[in-house]
Amino acid sequence: MEEEVTQLRCFREYHKSELFKDDGVETVTSVEQKKVEGTIQQVLSAYLQNHKIPQPELLRDQHCAYLKRGLRHLSDAYECLDASRPWLCYWILHSLELLDKPVPTSISSDVCQFLARCQCPTGGFAGGPGQQAHLAPTYAAVNALCIIGTEEAYSVIDRQKLLEFLYSVKQPDGSFVMHVGGEVDVRSAYCAASVASLTNIITSTLFAGTPGWIVSCQNWEGGLGGVPGLEAHGGYTFCGMAAMVILGKEDMLDLRTLLRWVASRQMRFEGGFQGRCNKLVDGCYSLWQAGLLPLLHRALYKEGELALSQASWMFEQQALQEYILLCCQNPAGGLLDKPGKSRDFYHTCYCLSGLSVAQHFGGRDVHLELVIGKDDNRLEPTHPVYNICPEKVTQAITWFQQQAVPMPREPASTS
Ligand SMILES: [Zn+2]
Repeated sequence: MEEEVTQLRCFREYHKSELFKDDGVETVTSVEQKKVEGTIQQVLSAYLQNHKIPQPELLRDQHCAYLKRGLRHLSDAYECLDASRPWLCYWILHSLELLDKPVPTSISSDVCQFLARCQCPTGGFAGGPGQQAHLAPTYAAVNALCIIGTEEAYSVIDRQKLLEFLYSVKQPDGSFVMHVGGEVDVRSAYCAASVASLTNIITSTLFAGTPGWIVSCQNWEGGLGGVPGLEAHGGYTFCGMAAMVILGKEDMLDLRTLLRWVASRQMRFEGGFQGRCNKLVDGCYSLWQAGLLPLLHRALYKEGELALSQASWMFEQQALQEYILLCCQNPAGGLLDKPGKSRDFYHTCYCLSGLSVAQHFGGRDVHLELVIGKDDNRLEPTHPVYNICPEKVTQAITWFQQQAVPMPREPASTS
């Protein structure tokens, strides 16, 4: 039994030596950091008291029930996400595909009809029926439809109009605004590159100047900020890196400083990731940060880097799995930021996505699995760029490649 106990990183004796030390300088953030570590220590010791042989379990049935309920009914707490409804479809459908629980045809057909109502006459998708087209729900809607993967789902997307919408948000410097009249940031470049590549509407001018603009978001820390000059942040860094991979320009980024920055964002005691330097651990960065490592691995491999591991990503895969399984699950289903926070569909999606990244190493030729806890904890793999299951990406790309790229009709102001 002793041996079993020591198998988990967080129950090994040396783990306590990873606790934060403030070197006698107390600050607002150092107090917060110690508080989080204290809560995690309590969670871990309560787990040990209740489990003689620690073998963390993914609460598969509870998560599935919570997710399926969300497709039909949302509580009042979701009122604030009224402009993010395609996101809810994507977060739930992707979580369910990771759990290998496809939704019944009748429900997926209802989702297709709902997303069709979110599509705008000017192209692109809005956060809800009758709202304004916006790149974020456009990304979510296209991903959700590709997960459903039926002819009905693919046919919802008006590719000609989608291309017109993308041109309407494209800026002369290569960046994109999130919506007409809206803000520029690196999320928009990723959302645009993601939907355009999945649906085969990339023209020779659509992403002109975009890689150069994304590179200008990489700062001295090594990660990317939302726009040039801002602090490096996990979500923006993932978006920038994934967009560069789609555009085949990842070598324009300084990959080694990016690697150093992201590897340093995994918390030594908690095992999960922080979004920015000096911030607290949060379950959703299990995808935004850990998800960068497969992209970096491939990019460095393409550059001919010989020192790359052929067995693991460049982060502690075991530690991340332990954090998600022991600290981020609500016993009634759904996953969360950190102990003490409430569950939601966003954190459920990105905790599960990060767990999948930590379980599966490799790609087409090599595939190694490291599943912590029960065997049944295994999730399906996720595509490192689109964050939907890889076969759904292949299926969508194959489908849309049978159709010609629409002719660009650029708005007069940018032509
Ligand atoms: Zn979060």
